[in-house]
Amino acid sequence: MTPLVDRFGRTHDNLRISVTDRCNIRCVYCMPESVEFLPKTEILTFEELVRLAQVAASLGIRKIRLTGGEPLVRSSLWVLIEQLAAIEGIRDIGLTTNGILLADQALKLKLAGLKQLNISLDTLDPDRFLALTRRTGVESVLQGIAAAQDAGFERIKINAVAIKGFSEPDIVPLAQFCRDQGLELRFIEYMPLDAKDVWERSKVLLMDELIASIESSVGPLVPVVGQDPNAPALEFHYADGSGKIGFIASVSRPFCQSCNRVRITADGKLRNCLFAVDETDLRSLIRSGASNETLAQAFRNSVAEKWEGHEINTSRFIKPDRLMHSIGG
Ligand code: SAM
Ligand code: SF4
Repeated sequence: MTPLVDRFGRTHDNLRISVTDRCNIRCVYCMPESVEFLPKTEILTFEELVRLAQVAASLGIRKIRLTGGEPLVRSSLWVLIEQLAAIEGIRDIGLTTNGILLADQALKLKLAGLKQLNISLDTLDPDRFLALTRRTGVESVLQGIAAAQDAGFERIKINAVAIKGFSEPDIVPLAQFCRDQGLELRFIEYMPLDAKDVWERSKVLLMDELIASIESSVGPLVPVVGQDPNAPALEFHYADGSGKIGFIASVSRPFCQSCNRVRITADGKLRNCLFAVDETDLRSLIRSGASNETLAQAFRNSVAEKWEGHEINTSRFIKPDRLMHSIGG
């Protein structure tokens, strides 16, 4: 079948699937304290997700990342991973998790065929973790990281959202911890997908500021040569050769021109951008008996309509109605 190429020549081979909008913590930059989650009947079943992934694979999707909400609150997620890993054409399956439930599941996920693991951790300090996530749990995340290392995951990435006026005390301890533990830290610039519209440009801790504080307190950084042009993170080595660090600079250096991603939300809406305002209702199609060709055409149409970029940095930016947890970050 024809691959998913958009008007700007971008080929889409990367699918992010949100398996739930639910979460066991409440990060302030992602969802409000009190939130009404989707009824279970509105969430795609494993069978429906596998069918959509098969159609996507037939259109050239090669990588799948599972996200949410918190994907590990979905029961027996490893069963889905096993089924996705068996799809012809799918080469790589990744997971982004807050790590709270990881200690018990790491080995099962690895055995099921999960290859890439990103664990979100913004601070090592229990009080600051509570302030950010409105829940306790930093110890569980650390246990989850250790279990993932024991299970044999390589190149584990630690995602940390950086918010100006809050995150500064965490930058250096996180960088040192990750370097000591052989983990790749990736700072993510704070994006306007939070609850209650508290995002402001002035609260974005920019990549250049993050680099300056790491270089002054941890060690000089050198850009990695030959980076994957489709990877969202700009990657650096420590000059002394001991470790890597990346920056997802969605606000200060948007990577839209090399974007190769499409997304399916937990309730089966196809989105061609994290910041898209329009969606395609794949769930209605699949539940009304649509053929694989009809589903494939829905993917093609969505990619054909993809815009050039998200425009966070312009007055034209429109914040999507959905919050991060209900899109799938
Ligand atoms: N619950 C999982 C987790 O936290 O890793 C997966 C879903 S979460 C929405 C995916 C990623 O998006 C996490 O690394 C999280 O830190 C990040 N994220 C959430 N809200 C964000 C925001 N407003 N700006 C930037 N990154 C955000
Ligand atoms: Fe949950 Fe992840 Fe959102 Fe935090 S960022 S509230 S862990 S979905």
